[in-house]
This record gives sequence, structure tokens and C-alpha cells, in this order.
Amino acid sequence: MTHKLHIVGGGMAGSEAAWQAANMGVQVVLHEMRPQVKTFAHRTGNFGEMVCSNSFRSDDHEQNAVGLLHWEMMQAGSLIMTTAHQHRLPAGGALAVDRDPFARSVTDALTSHDNIQISFEEIDTLPDEGNWIFATGPLTSENLGKAIQAETGADRLAFFDAIAPIVYAESIDMNVAWLQSRYDKGETEEEQKAYINCPMNKAQYEAFIDALLAADKTEFHEGETATYFDGCLPIEVMAERGRETLRHGPMKPVGLTNPHNPEEKAYAVVQLRRDNSLGTLYNIVGFQTKMKYGAQTAVFKMIPGLQDASFARLGGIHRNTFLNSPTLLDAQMRLRSKPNIRFAGQVTGVEGYVESAAMGLLAGRMAAAEILGKPLETVPQDTAHGALVHHITGGAEAKTFQPMNVNFGLFRPLENSGIKGGRRGRKDRYKAYTDRAKADWTAWLEGQA
Ligand SMILES: Cc1cc2nc3c(=O)[nH]c(=O)nc-3n(C[C@H](O)[C@H](O)[C@H](O)COP(=O)(O)OP(=O)(O)OC[C@H]3O[C@@H](n4cnc5c(N)ncnc54)[C@H](O)[C@@H]3O)c2cc1C
Repeated sequence: MTHKLHIVGGGMAGSEAAWQAANMGVQVVLHEMRPQVKTFAHRTGNFGEMVCSNSFRSDDHEQNAVGLLHWEMMQAGSLIMTTAHQHRLPAGGALAVDRDPFARSVTDALTSHDNIQISFEEIDTLPDEGNWIFATGPLTSENLGKAIQAETGADRLAFFDAIAPIVYAESIDMNVAWLQSRYDKGETEEEQKAYINCPMNKAQYEAFIDALLAADKTEFHEGETATYFDGCLPIEVMAERGRETLRHGPMKPVGLTNPHNPEEKAYAVVQLRRDNSLGTLYNIVGFQTKMKYGAQTAVFKMIPGLQDASFARLGGIHRNTFLNSPTLLDAQMRLRSKPNIRFAGQVTGVEGYVESAAMGLLAGRMAAAEILGKPLETVPQDTAHGALVHHITGGAEAKTFQPMNVNFGLFRPLENSGIKGGRRGRKDRYKAYTDRAKADWTAWLEGQA
């Protein structure tokens, strides 16, 4: 074996990628800039450092998409997941860990692996030669960020996310809401009905603005700049600028007619736009926010039509370096313009420790298999890993692409299952999703044995 695999970044994704590739027999060089070059969030020079919460979220692999990702990672011999279970702390159904011993164990496992060489240095170019995985995370160093932008174009690498809440389509009350694009714009019926509209009368609007202004907000982390970009102001900041601002911005009621009540003109309208090609997820347009999660749920359920909404993810605004992956990466996570380079982890537009490690697991296996001359079959789309990688490399709307957590809205619906729709069938449906995923993931792994 002569070809080395270079992995840049020893966080969740890079650590997992290195472990997977090294276990497949490939020589890995893991490049990490810490501790010499610091980020505002990391405290140590350890690999796999958890920068904030100590939780890998739900461990329920039958009813929760993150729990399913845990399960799939365990089946694939994941370093991050195995080590997390070794350092587990009591936390109900969540997988919380003792963070420092966890990161030290990850570091020991990587540094003592015969096939892994460690190099403490910052990489600030995208090399033309060799096999590379860049897993440099939300705080990718500035120099490397510039090099990525030079390759991809400045508008394809973002330095902040501006996440609007995402709602499961099935939980929107279509007896209140309706499908229509403003002024019925679009050539096809699908385009003319591209948005879901939720109407508000004056009293509902005023109560909504009061709730926005009163809601608890999160602060930026120390070291994060608090400057907002024009065009992605948090809704509560817009509301602070004037009670009518939202009604003249994302909630303007023009060009829309409510078929449930055509005579009454809405005072304001909240619009939701399709967020994935499956049509199972909708984002609330222009509703990026720094409200606390509990407050968001309460405030957004005040919107008529969303009173029973289930949220696939809540909104947020963070310092976060991420690619426009749907346009830049192929299904093997390679940069289309430079296929010797893969990206993995949060920089690909997934969100969270588990999702980042999972994308590292895939990228590590894909790169190693390619080096070994046995390229991997496409990851089955109905697994948690497959649903996520499919979303970021093609399923997501490229124009409005924002980081994504794993959730059942990314899964293809079950064909002819006979399971009830809506809330009533949810438990059975989730179990059927996870059963289907487990069977497909097991078969995919066995195909590589
Ligand atoms: C302030 C903050 C708080 C967060 N809180 C949470 C949370 O509570 N829960 C959660 O699930 N997620 C949280 N996240 C997201 C979290 O960062 C990711 O979930 C996860 O750490 C991403 O894994 P990763 O491997 O992609 O990136 P990271 O874990 O950040 O790893 C990237 C690594 O690359 C290194 N690196 C960067 N540039 C270079 C370079 N040019 N050369 C060499 N090395 C480089 C970095 O030093 C780092 O070690 C938070 C993010 C931030 C910024």
C-alpha cells in the first residue's frame, strides 16, 4: 500500500474518518492545527473535543433518527460512538458523556494506531495531488477558508448559518393554511403552489409580535462576532425595529388569497417553503432567530396552521463555516472540481457532533475504498447515513441550503406500509423507518466485508 490518505482536522469527523480508513488498512496522516493554532471554542489539543454540550442526544434507535445514527455507527465500529458509550453519564434516554476522558480516549486510540501518523500543523491550501479529506469544522481556519473560497467561489462557502425553523409538512393544518406562490408566479402548477401560507388577523399579529419581543433569546458565544448580515436579521431583531417591520418584510400579506376565506384579507401571512425534494419538510421563510428553543416552539405554534406543528429543527444563527454542498460535492463527498479532495463533517452542511462524526465515517470509508481500488457502493438512501448524505449532496434546495440535523423528514416515505398517517401512526412509522434502515445498513456493511 503506497497511497496515503491525508485528513485535515481532528474533530468529530476527522477523528472518525481516520479511524475508519486506518482500520481498512490505509496509511493515514491526520493533520490538526491545535494546540498551536487555536479556535475560540476549543480548549484543549485533544482529538474529538466537544466544544459545548456534552450530549450526543437521543440514544433511542427505534424512535429517533439520531439514535438510529448511533446504532448504524456502532455497527460500523465507530470510534466516536464506541468511546462515547465507554464514558457514558446518566442522562435518561440521552447519550451524555464525561467529555475530557472521552476526548483523551479518542486521542489515545488515534495516536496509538499503527496506520495513523499525527502531524500538528495548519493546512491552508487544497492540494492538487494526493488523497485528502478536509474535516475542519465550523471554525475552519481563516487561511484555509480563503483557499476554499478561491476554489469554490466566495458565495459557496458561508461563515455564518441563518437557520429558519423547519416543520414536518404532515403536521401543518391545511384546513387553515393553503398552497400558493405570491401572485401565483411560476410556469407550472407546482411552482404556482410552491409555498404554504398561514394567515393572521390583526389581533393574532399583535399578539405574535408581543411574544417575539418578550421571548428569551440566546447570546452569541464569547469570541463569536455579533454582527448580523443584511438579509438575515433574526425576526425578533426585525420586530424590535418596529412593530410593522415584519408585516412589510417576510410576513407581508400581498399577492395571496386565502381559499378558506377569500373575502377576508389577511393582515399578515407567514410563508413556508419546501426544504427537500421529498416535500416532507418546509422552512418558515425569513424566520432565522436567536430565540431559545423552548420559546421558539411556543411562539411559532401561535401561527395559525402551525398550532400542532412538529419541528424537524429549530432556528438559529451561529458562526459556522459550511459549503454549498448540493452544488459542490458529488455523492462520494468529493469536490466536483477537484475529486482528489473530499469534505466531511460540519463543513459539509450537517449540524451536530453525531451527524459530523457520521459524515466522517462515510468519507473515511469512501476514501479508503477508493485508494484500495474497491470504490464503495452508494450509501443506501433509506438509512440515517444515506438520508443525510443524500440530502447534503443533492436532495436539499441548493439556493437556500442551510445546515441540517438528521431527522425522519429526510427519509423516503414507506411504500404500501398500511401504517396510519399523521400523529396517530407516528410510532409505528418511525419503527418501520428504523427497521428498514437497519436492514439496509447491515446489508451495505456486509457488502464491504
Ligand atoms: C461555539 C460552538 C458550539 C457548538 N455546540 C454544539 C453542541 O452543543 N452540540 C453539538 O452537537 N454541536 C455543537 N456545535 C457544532 C460542533 O462544532 C459540531 O457538531 C462538531 O464539533 C463538528 O465536528 P467537525 O469534526 O466537523 O468539526 P470540529 O469538531 O470543530 O473539528 C474540526 C477540527 O479541525 C481543526 N482545523 C480547522 N482548520 C484547520 C486547518 N486549516 N488545518 C488543520 N486543522 C484545522 C480544528 O482545530 C478542529 O479540531 C458547536 C459549534 C460551535 C462553533
